[in-house]
Amino acid sequence: MSEKPKRPMRPDPIPRIDSQFFWDACKRGELVVQKCEPCDKLWHPPRALCPMCHSSEKTEEKLSGKGTVLSWCRQIRPASFLFAESPWVILVELDEGVRLLSNLEGEEAPEFGMRVKVDFAETSGGKAVPVFRSEA
Ligand SMILES: [Zn+2]
Repeated sequence: MSEKPKRPMRPDPIPRIDSQFFWDACKRGELVVQKCEPCDKLWHPPRALCPMCHSSEKTEEKLSGKGTVLSWCRQIRPASFLFAESPWVILVELDEGVRLLSNLEGEEAPEFGMRVKVDFAETSGGKAVPVFRSEA
């Protein structure tokens, strides 16, 4: 059996027509979501139509990257593939009201209400995915 790498070798994201902008922004170090032109609703994950009014008129909105942990879990068995230690999976409510599933990086374990800030982790193919770190 091969030894696991010391740092995560995250798989590359698989961009789709409606999500390419999101992954391109991650590579630039920006967290963006779609915003509906007619009703101003922000949403994630990316999709073709506004979930509120079904309009296809949308723009991109850059977010602060700051949010609050709502929930979390950690895979124990089997250990996560290609990670030295399974990462914390967290549900973050961003300050702009959008929720995002991601990972918590760093030494701290997640807690309900923990303040976090986005960072970007490199993937095995040189792309980037959003991860979060404690603001404390
Ligand atoms: Zn809308």
